[in-house]
Amino acid sequence: IGGGSGGVRAARMAAARGARVVLAEAGGTAGLGGTCVNVGCIPKKLYSYAAHYAEAFEESHGFGWEGDATRLDWGRLKENRRSELARLNGVYLNLLVGSGVELVHGHARLLGAHTVEIDCAGHGQGVPRRLSARHILIATGGRPQVPGFPGREFALTSNEVFDLEPFPARLLVVGGGYIACEFASIFNGLGSRVTQLYRGPQVLRGFDDDVRRFLGAEMVKKGIDLRLNANVAAIERAPGGLLVSLQDGCSVEVDAALFATGRVPNVAGLGLEAAGVAQGADGAVLVDEHYRTSVPSIHAVGDVTARVQLTPVALSEAMVVVDHLFGAPSGRIPRAMEYEFIPSAVFTHPSVGTVGMTEAEARKEFGVISIYRSEFRALRHTLSGSSERTMMKLVVDETTDRVVGLHMVGAEAGEIVQ
Ligand code: NDP
Repeated sequence: IGGGSGGVRAARMAAARGARVVLAEAGGTAGLGGTCVNVGCIPKKLYSYAAHYAEAFEESHGFGWEGDATRLDWGRLKENRRSELARLNGVYLNLLVGSGVELVHGHARLLGAHTVEIDCAGHGQGVPRRLSARHILIATGGRPQVPGFPGREFALTSNEVFDLEPFPARLLVVGGGYIACEFASIFNGLGSRVTQLYRGPQVLRGFDDDVRRFLGAEMVKKGIDLRLNANVAAIERAPGGLLVSLQDGCSVEVDAALFATGRVPNVAGLGLEAAGVAQGADGAVLVDEHYRTSVPSIHAVGDVTARVQLTPVALSEAMVVVDHLFGAPSGRIPRAMEYEFIPSAVFTHPSVGTVGMTEAEARKEFGVISIYRSEFRALRHTLSGSSERTMMKLVVDETTDRVVGLHMVGAEAGEIVQ
């Protein structure tokens, strides 16, 4: 159930091992690839590339390039993004069909330990389709969540922001996590005046403190009005846009307000209670180390389990489930999953790449550690005029001389850390 990263991978791999597989996706072909392809990693990265051009044009003057400033055609960017995503949806469809998976367009609901009903609304048939299966995998992902406050109806989420019309000259971003920091950077780069509010003392809670401080400072240098220990009290319509009142009594006028205040599992209407599937906070599907829920025939992977919400994690979990249920290909031992040392990248400007422990975590775990930290201005910026700086940091366990953490803020940090 669910044609995102985890669901598609599990369906294909299970079919390749000889299982007869049906994949239910409420969005049909257009939903294939899930959050990552449609409203997450992929379009976000495309917009981030777009945003980097503004900076590159600006910096080119120091290298002798002359000419009028270029102008963003927001409509063209959106259109090109849409066609690329449609192409990717098609690639996913071909992969599924090619591996013998049957795709059913419709919302699926569990009726029991081995039974699913798919509403098939997407096909306009109106006749629900009831299927029974030996194994059922829940891979329905998550969705953005917005806290309650007066004027909440004006809040946008990352689901809508890609298609914003018109382009927001002034954008409010609320939150200090991955999504908030990435979109603050992207829209700032594309030309919006961005105000970012974060309720805590520094963005990217959970990351290494040096990374947080350094990134926060770089984002401010790029022009983002980053306000820490700040939050929204209310939003109301104003003559020229939206008037946002802050809890500290200040106010700011913007054209659009993006809330990136966390994500919750997609479990509404799934029939989890009816099937007896145990849930945790925010409805997350609880699973054991084999991704089995409290009902042995029902498994779950990815964001719906609300553990580590990253595409490569969902993909790996899907492979582990398939190996566990249908066996690994001959000659290979069944995969297992470790959640330590999961690398991740934040596509801010400059970007963040990180793997392993933060300095604080390593200090707690090992006691004596060494920190190797370097901070510099890249050679390119001698002529570019940019004041952007790069920070790299290695955290080393002193006793074994083993690197236990690697953190970077700077151009291509994700690729470098990878
Ligand atoms: P996060 O949980 O990372 O961040 C949510 C942010 O919103 C935090 O700063 C949090 O503050 C803040 N917040 C939560 N509730 C409120 C509230 N009521 N009022 C004000 N602020 C609030 O979630 P995201 O939505 O950014 O992203 C979800 C997940 O998706 C990420 O954790 C990540 O796993 C994944 N992701 C990965 C990306 C990548 O790999 N590049 C990109 C985008 C998403 P506080 O810190 O105080 O709790």
